[in-house]
Amino acid sequence: MGKRAVICGISGQDGAYLAASLLQKGYTVFGTSRDAQVSAFSGLHELHIAGDVHLESMALTDFRSVLQVLVKCEPDEVYNLAGQSSVGLSFQQPVETLESFATGTLNLLEAIRFRGQPVRLYNAGSSECFGDVLHTDADETTAFRPRSPYAVAKSAAHWEVANYREAYNLFACSGILFNHESPLRRERFVTRKIVAAAVRIAKGSGERLKLGELSIQRDWGWAPEYVEAMWKMLQLDKPEDFVIATGQTNSLESFVASAFECVGLHWRDHVDSTAALMRPSEIRMSRANPAKAFTLLNWRAKNKMRDVVELMVAAEQARTPS
Ligand code: NDP
Repeated sequence: MGKRAVICGISGQDGAYLAASLLQKGYTVFGTSRDAQVSAFSGLHELHIAGDVHLESMALTDFRSVLQVLVKCEPDEVYNLAGQSSVGLSFQQPVETLESFATGTLNLLEAIRFRGQPVRLYNAGSSECFGDVLHTDADETTAFRPRSPYAVAKSAAHWEVANYREAYNLFACSGILFNHESPLRRERFVTRKIVAAAVRIAKGSGERLKLGELSIQRDWGWAPEYVEAMWKMLQLDKPEDFVIATGQTNSLESFVASAFECVGLHWRDHVDSTAALMRPSEIRMSRANPAKAFTLLNWRAKNKMRDVVELMVAAEQARTPS
């Protein structure tokens, strides 16, 4: 019999790609949303798999609803991809952000422990936990120095998972994922905002693109590849945490320049950097060493920043009316 997986946060970018990947592997896929009756599941529709997954309503912050879903779906694997995932919004909604990750992850761990079934848990960790990575590339041993409410919340969830693994012998692990993008990214995230604006401007919209700090540096990869790493982590003999990244860092300015270059424009003619969009505290430099993932998971990022930009621009051009 095929395996059964529950994807918490299936309406998000990673949830949709992971669902597609697991379906291809023969899994029965259950996906949760806070309100499955009203969520649009646009990612699942774009990937043409909306009819192939079983959708459930579940609020991670509500233990009863978490337990109910686990009892009903009887999963072999649970992927925790849900929560308030915008770093920017976390400065405006710190409590919502903290509860969605810290309480949410704890409820999942407690429900799994309570049931006593051999469920494997993947938790979506984040490179934001490292804060500024200035002197050496971050790996699984690098200390966390979070610089946003989002990163504080993700750090709490990371240590909850590590604690339950050690204390109760649960098969639970965190992927410390660096930024990964795709056409399924929402426009509130800067990469999609840039690509969408570049394509509209090239089609004559006449607008100007307003961005915050352009000198920040990030490691950008391709989301469909990153969900494979999540799955691979749960197929290991023992649970471990992994840094998942391309290993290449670029400035936001070079991301912007590439996007405009792809549509035949120069970014300086169309972009303004405004203090109003800068965050109270920002990570300037993010650098990764994903060597452990290559050694133990045989996983390596194929698409680097320039490839990601080209793939996103092509998808945006296809969906933007002339
Ligand atoms: P998305 O924002 O696309 O999806 C997250 C999902 O979580 C949403 O679809 C939503 O589902 C649910 N959600 C949103 N807000 C809340 C909330 N306040 N409480 C509970 N659930 C909420 O995220 P991604 O798919 O991009 O990322 C998946 C996970 O990986 C997230 O935890 C993210 O923080 C983390 N991550 C992502 C990175 C990236 O570069 N994409 C990098 C590192 C970590 P619904 O509205 O249906 O309930």
